[in-house]
Amino acid sequence: MKYTCDCINSLFFDFNCVKCGCSNTYGMLYIVPFEGNNFDIEKVNSARAEIVNSFRAGIVPDKCRNCYMLKEDKDGKIDEPLPKELDHLYISHWYHCNCGCIYCCNRGVTKLKITPEPKKSDYYDLLPTIKYLCQEGYVGENTRITTIGGEPTVLSEFDEIMTELTKYTKSNIIILSSGIQYSQAIYDTLAKGNTELIITIDAGNPVLYKKIKRVDAFYQVLENVKKYLKANPKNKNSVYFKYILIKGLNDKKENLEECIKIAKETGINKMYLAIDYNCQNIGKEIPEQWYDLYDYFLSVKDMEMYVYDYCQQILDRKKIF
Ligand code: SF4
Ligand code: SF4
Repeated sequence: MKYTCDCINSLFFDFNCVKCGCSNTYGMLYIVPFEGNNFDIEKVNSARAEIVNSFRAGIVPDKCRNCYMLKEDKDGKIDEPLPKELDHLYISHWYHCNCGCIYCCNRGVTKLKITPEPKKSDYYDLLPTIKYLCQEGYVGENTRITTIGGEPTVLSEFDEIMTELTKYTKSNIIILSSGIQYSQAIYDTLAKGNTELIITIDAGNPVLYKKIKRVDAFYQVLENVKKYLKANPKNKNSVYFKYILIKGLNDKKENLEECIKIAKETGINKMYLAIDYNCQNIGKEIPEQWYDLYDYFLSVKDMEMYVYDYCQQILDRKKIF
């Protein structure tokens, strides 16, 4: 059997290296070290070729074991040469954020320091590499983009990165933001029509919000969401909420009901329910009542409600992998 995964032609810029673009809990597949200078696509491609060759030979590299994205290559696609144009570019070379979610994987790095104003990444500037990838044809009209590091509105080069990327890609752009700071660059990217903005809200009232996020910004977020919703009025799903279930904190039905109510009042039409699966929770069993919560969430009729694939897999396995 041959293997493949959706991330094989992606690049994920992390603080000290380039990886494939997965978020496998067991550790993303390392490709090459990178600290901001002299990005060498040849090194990336030769390291990537080893992974592809393993998949072609039916061998699963150690770090891909148990990855929820690994799948059987049923149509022989893995034998085709990878195109020059990347499928997906992930931007994750900074960790600063203007809030401090208790489940945040970046906490170990930022020591829960809250960064209200934009600043440079502590590691490197990505803009020169982004320009290189765009100008050399590695980012093209079909390249999807995801920002996944810290909070984009506190990364000083974020606006320029988005301006450069949106000259080249017509594909889907996903921006994760706390929503605390309004960003004209996010608004402008949304207005281009191919962008989704995910705000992880986790609560339906300011008290619970502050317990989870460590900042008092619940109503500020809702006000900014209302502004962002105006950027692309043709797509009522361009801005949506994610609600991460945290055991014993926001996982009662009334917590969810309250958040769904406030989402509707704000103009949100779509929500995802997710699970706090940070590394401290690996191996823990899913509380029995969460299954009812998921059933309730998916039964809400007048909004679009979804569960991420990885969460569905966690639910099916009954424990966090
Ligand atoms: S199978 Fe998973 S770990 Fe392996 S390269 Fe693909 S996404 Fe990364
Ligand atoms: S909004 Fe995202 S980056 Fe910021 S603290 Fe929360 S999880 Fe971490």
